[in-house]
Parts: sequence; C-alpha cells; structure tokens
Amino acid sequence: MTTVDLPLLPLGKGRDLDAERGVECPGDLPPASDPDLVARALAAKEALGERVFVLGHHYQRDEVIQFADVTGDSFKLARDAAARPDAEFIVFCGVHFMAESADILTADTQRVILPDLAAGCSMADMARLAQVEDAWDALADAGVQDSVVPVTYMNSTADIKAFCGRNGGVVCTSSNADVALEWAFEQKAHLEDGAKVLFFPDQHLGRNTAVLKMGMSLEDCVVWDPHKANGGLTVDELRAARMILWKGHCSVHGRFSASVVDDLRAQHPGIHILVHPECTHEVVLKADLVGSTEFIIKTIEAAEPGTTWAIGTELNLVKRLADAHPDKNIVFLDRNVCYCSTMNRIDLPHLVWAMENLVAGNVVNQISVDPDTEREALVALQRMLDLPGKSHRD
Ligand code: SF4
Repeated sequence: MTTVDLPLLPLGKGRDLDAERGVECPGDLPPASDPDLVARALAAKEALGERVFVLGHHYQRDEVIQFADVTGDSFKLARDAAARPDAEFIVFCGVHFMAESADILTADTQRVILPDLAAGCSMADMARLAQVEDAWDALADAGVQDSVVPVTYMNSTADIKAFCGRNGGVVCTSSNADVALEWAFEQKAHLEDGAKVLFFPDQHLGRNTAVLKMGMSLEDCVVWDPHKANGGLTVDELRAARMILWKGHCSVHGRFSASVVDDLRAQHPGIHILVHPECTHEVVLKADLVGSTEFIIKTIEAAEPGTTWAIGTELNLVKRLADAHPDKNIVFLDRNVCYCSTMNRIDLPHLVWAMENLVAGNVVNQISVDPDTEREALVALQRMLDLPGKSHRD
C-alpha cells in the first residue's frame, strides 16, 4: 500500500462511545460505559429472533451497524423492511424521516421503532408543512401555481411527501432526481410558458441536478427563503424561474468546501474527489465524481489499489470505507471531524434499551404515520416507483 501524507483526518481508527444522550428515552437507558452492552444487544436480538429486523443506515456508527440485518440508504432500507412482512418489529437505526418512510411502506401489522426519538434530520426540519403551504399559496397569488409541480427529496417528513402526493408531485432520491425532474416538467409541458418545479428541502441537490444533468442555467434557478415574505422573490423572478429551490441544506454535506478540494489537488496530483450531490454546487463542480451513497460505495469498491480518494459524505461511511479498503488511500474531504449529529444519536445504549424493552413486551419509540398522511405520501412515492429506468437509491 502506498503511504500518502494527507493533511486531513486519518481514518479507520478508534470509535467514540461517549455518545451524547438522547433526551427522549426515560429511566433505564444503560450507561455507555457498561462493558456488557454488546452482549446485551446480542442477547436481546437473539431473544427477539425473527420478530425483529434491524436496519442500519450507511451513516450510522460502527457500534450500531454491527447489529444491522441489512445496511443501505433510506429508501433501500424501507423496501427491505417491506420485504420482511414476518418481522413484527422494524428497529430503524437512522433518523426520523427514514422511520416514517419505513412505516409508510411496511404492513400495518409491523411496528417501526426509532431507538432515540431525538434522531431527527436538520435538512428535513428546514421544510415544515405550514411553510410549504404558505409558499404554495404565495405561488397562487403570483399567478404561477398552475405551472408548478412539487418535487420532494426522500429526506423530508411524511407530511411533505403527502403534500406532493395531493398536489400532483413526486418524491425523488439522489439517484433518480433527474428522472423525477424530467417527469415533473412533462406534467405541464402543454403550458405555453412551460412548467416549473418547486424542489425541497435540499437546494443543492435541486440545483446540481437541474444545472449539471438537465442542462439548465443557474439563472433558471431561484431560491425560496421560507423566512422571508414571498420567499424573498419578486413576482417577475418567480415567473422567469424554472426551478424554485427551497432554502434548505444538509448540515453535513453543506460543510465541504471548494478550497479544500483545491488544496488537495495541489498537494496530491492524481487524487480523486468523490462527493455526494447534497454538496454545494461549487464543490460538485470541482469534483471528479458525484453520486449517491450507493454510487460512492461502488466506486470505491471498483477503484484500483494504491489510488487516493477524498470523499465528501458522512464521516461514519467514509471511515468504514477506509477500514474496508486498506489497499486504497481514503480521506475525508474536510479538515475537521464532522459526523451527522442526529444520526449519531443512535448509539449502542439506545439500541440495547429499545431491544430489551421489546423483549420485555414494551413497544418504545414507535414511529407511526397517520393514515391520511400515509395514503397521500404513498401516492407521491408510487409516482417515484413508476418512473422509468433508474434505481431509486438515495
Ligand atoms: S446527513 Fe444530512 S440529510 Fe442525512 S440525516 Fe444528517 S442532516 Fe439529514
């Protein structure tokens, strides 16, 4: 293996068991210092047997991933759970919107558990239903609503997916965002002034897809700021726009900077820059390869030994890739440690606590989407499933 002196965080070593505690688990959460946590998790999982199916998102800690029956992105995991109708309990090691999607896609008899209810997603939180409905009304007042198709990223709450379902819209993942946008524009192609897309919550995925995959210009895109009157846009700006991007972002992927890419390239000719499309447009423009978590994993698996990669996605996944591929030089595309703080709330104490409660007959932290929201969200999800061609991984 070639040794490369990279100035970034060395990966593949150590783990942090001093987790920040969730605030929603009452009473008997085991201490992180309990030396029997692994044995307790194994015993609880064994006691539950086929009744439990543990899902582990790629961004989860190793201490949790080791107990996952399957790993993947949020949509794959929800489908995996739906393919296991005999599993009474789906323990979702991920964040809240993912558990909601699993509840929507699984049978009514299956119960989805989120080990720590404080595991939300800051990006999903940036598009609240009331804000989106206000924006929708404002688009009507501006005389453009009839030409707008709402498209939401998988990383959104169930009620936002339901909003898309009842307003002719669709859900997308980072793998199929371009196909979803093509579909959306076709829905209103008959209009004289053409269609527009209202894309939420991630402005970066929307912009990167529109400009780099759909051939639009940056001028075709405007940003709707829910904290400003009329989104901070004039009626003329709304009329001229093709993409109305919600002002939301991922607090992890939004951190990567173009200047670090420049520094790395200067110091290490031949380094490959591989990033997720939730990164900013400037970073994506400077990257060699851009794609979903599944794309990133497959790219590293296929890479030549001795090659050097800087990866711009969540640190737990990058560390795992570095561990799994010691013949390649893999670094994190940031100088600082930056985990997804909400993903990291699911730690071993919470997993043990949730599974031991299930063994004892107590269903804790169940995530349950109300039937009306579920029905409308399913409409938007089904439109995504009906899209031609691509896989639906995020
Ligand atoms: S990595 Fe970003 S999008 Fe994913 S859960 Fe964390 S904040 Fe949300």
